[in-house]
Amino acid sequence: MILTVTLNTALDLTYRVPALTPHTSHRVTEVTERPGGKGVNVARVLAALGHAVTVTGFAGGDTGRALRERLATEPRLTDALVPVAGATRRTLAVVDAATGDTTQLNEPGPTVTPAEWAAFLDSYEQLARHEGTTAIALCGSLPPGVPVGAYALLIRAARAARVPVLLDTSGEPLRRGVAARPDIVKPNADELAELTGSHEPERATRDARRRGAHAVVASLGADGLLALTPDGGWRARPPKRVRGNPTGAGDSAVAGLLSGLAEGLPWPERLARAVALSAATVAAPVAGEFDPTTYEDLLARVAVTDAVPAST
Ligand code: ATP
Ligand code: MG
Ligand code: MG
Repeated sequence: MILTVTLNTALDLTYRVPALTPHTSHRVTEVTERPGGKGVNVARVLAALGHAVTVTGFAGGDTGRALRERLATEPRLTDALVPVAGATRRTLAVVDAATGDTTQLNEPGPTVTPAEWAAFLDSYEQLARHEGTTAIALCGSLPPGVPVGAYALLIRAARAARVPVLLDTSGEPLRRGVAARPDIVKPNADELAELTGSHEPERATRDARRRGAHAVVASLGADGLLALTPDGGWRARPPKRVRGNPTGAGDSAVAGLLSGLAEGLPWPERLARAVALSAATVAAPVAGEFDPTTYEDLLARVAVTDAVPAST
């Protein structure tokens, strides 16, 4: 079982309109509502690959109830969300059908109380120590009220339980998390530059490793992945730039890395899987979803090459 942590869960609403124009009213042609937040999205991709996934984080209020009801209908996902008094946030994506452009509106989410955070920590430690837990992913931003060092704490607990842990976040939570020595960290180019002060991916990736992460997998948009790990360094590239919606591509990359880790695949295969899955996610019309045939087709054409880390 893979465990994904989403402290800032959301109920994601998507409205499709024929064309989005300011100062006019719009006829909504399609509405979808589904559980969201980065770790939930990672869990959904893992489930599509056939993995059993436990989803934890927080849920509260009517929106939290709706989120949990829908989660229960999704195959291979187990709900271990911890209740909070505040209501889970909603996000609203308005998709302009004419251009495919998306306008995104995100609520901030409820403030987590110290007692709720303590209850989460208890539950998380039990899940991490559960004998069936093969890997943990910590994904996304922190909601108000959760301490900025939260991920560092969760990484140390995972390491104490001897379960490999991957971190995908940004800003100060990323900085503190990396110092707690996660097995894998997956920053995108902006997150990596903010962490290290360098816009040169190879230099920044080496620097992120020096800061404590055992393996750094930098995602570089259409340029694919750059990985520096204890077993070696690699570049993995999609066969071509894919046109489409990059929302959720990073989450699919994380799912690819974790599934390969849980299955004991060597690094180059994990990276190929991550690149193919994320490129297939960009190609899919619905954000965060992918077509299995497109994925298989891309997987056969991903190029993985050695990236020998130059010294210093
Ligand atoms: P997210 O918004 O989900 O957090 P991110 O910013 O963390 O995404 P990106 O680096 O933008 O992550 O994308 C993740 C991966 O998706 C890339 O490493 C690459 O494999 C794939 N990808 C992104 N954009 C494209 C593209 N246009 N064509 C092909 N592959 C892409
Ligand atoms: Mg991006
Ligand atoms: Mg990301």
